[in-house]
Amino acid sequence: MTTNIVELKSVGKSFRSADGSDRAVLAGVDFALKEGEIVALLGQSGSGKSTMLRIMAGLIGADQGQVLYHGLPLFGSARGIRMVFQSFALFPWLTVQKNVELGLEAQGVPSEERELRAEKVIDLIGLSGFEGALPRELSGGMRQRVGIARALVMEPEILLMDEAFSALDVLTGERLREDILELWESGQIPTKAMLVVSHNIEEAVMMADRVLIFSSNPGRIRAELPIALARPRNADSQEVRALIDEVYGLMTAGSARPGRTTEKEAKLQLGDRLPEADIARIEGILELLVDEPYRGQADLPKLGEETELTDRELLDVSITLALLGFAQLAHGDITITPLGEQYVAASNPERQTIFGQQLLENVPLVAYICHGLEQDRSGDLPEDLFLRLLRFTLNAEDAESALRVAIEWGRYGNLFEYNFNAGIIHLPKDETPVPE
Ligand code: ADP
Ligand code: MG
Repeated sequence: MTTNIVELKSVGKSFRSADGSDRAVLAGVDFALKEGEIVALLGQSGSGKSTMLRIMAGLIGADQGQVLYHGLPLFGSARGIRMVFQSFALFPWLTVQKNVELGLEAQGVPSEERELRAEKVIDLIGLSGFEGALPRELSGGMRQRVGIARALVMEPEILLMDEAFSALDVLTGERLREDILELWESGQIPTKAMLVVSHNIEEAVMMADRVLIFSSNPGRIRAELPIALARPRNADSQEVRALIDEVYGLMTAGSARPGRTTEKEAKLQLGDRLPEADIARIEGILELLVDEPYRGQADLPKLGEETELTDRELLDVSITLALLGFAQLAHGDITITPLGEQYVAASNPERQTIFGQQLLENVPLVAYICHGLEQDRSGDLPEDLFLRLLRFTLNAEDAESALRVAIEWGRYGNLFEYNFNAGIIHLPKDETPVPE
């Protein structure tokens, strides 16, 4: 029988948003991390993955539901649960050895034992010889290894890795991931279960015993895919490729707002994050799609390989194409629509007109900006106004990104212009009302 180490039961969490109301970030999250398994968690940025991990680690409390650690309610942070973050805040004036010892020191472990344990972990993670180095003398990959060593030295029962490999270049990330899997498989670390948040679909499929897919607003687990292949796995094998395909399919289901099934839910809302895709990329992918060898339809993972886009970039541009009616997404494939074909065949000014029309119909934020400008007598409005609106539902980073995307798209669609220096959005010249 497998034991549940940590269990979330109908967990909900809200944060106060800019207007003072509470916004549900997680709702009805049911999840159990079992002994002996690695679970990967995929989902859009801002969907609440980090919040879920922080709740599991006891760093923040849940507003609803229960968090159980070995069957008992978790109060405060648990010693046996450690998190590894994307960027590990190493102390720049401390050597690798001292950085790794820090947590043990905080627990009052005597210095001799500290040294031995740190040395052992530094060796395991492939940093021997660098004990005396300072963080600035290390590459990004090595610094991340120090971060992981810092978690491992505490001999955690559970490791929660929050995009631990995302900041590294592809090869460095892969190597580190393989090393960790080897430590795990060989039983050299006492860790009994791992939860890995990732933006990389291949990484999730290569590592995990099951892959969970998170939906946004509010975050909850929307799909689960068990992976019964033995590790180490061959990234090029047919089984792995098929699973990657399946995950792409799950992640793009419902396209505009992945994970939303009803038609009303599937429509983008005013306060939603916008996928990050610039015009060059949108048009580049469309043009690629109509050509050989795709002739209108492509397998997303293959397209990702050819274009060398990251999963996040590829999903964002695919979702944009679906949102604008230029393509359809199903089962991990992207298929161009008649409108998409018309778009590719059109001249530049025609493209811009189509783009503008599709924006007005499908992107409420752009339509809202246009409406605001038309209502305003001067025909111009400060961008801050829209930022403040977005801050009701998005964090600062996502709000800025959504507005930046809306402005770029809207300008291309000839719906409005933007004065970068003044931070003012205004109607295009020929449509600006004549000043009195
Ligand atoms: P993910 O890790 O999936 O990108 P997060 O869990 O970091 O998502 O955030 C989910 C949402 O919760 C975001 O919209 C974020 O702005 C919000 N959020 C996270 N932490 C806080 C906080 N301490 N206060 C207010 N809002 C927060
Ligand atoms: Mg996060």
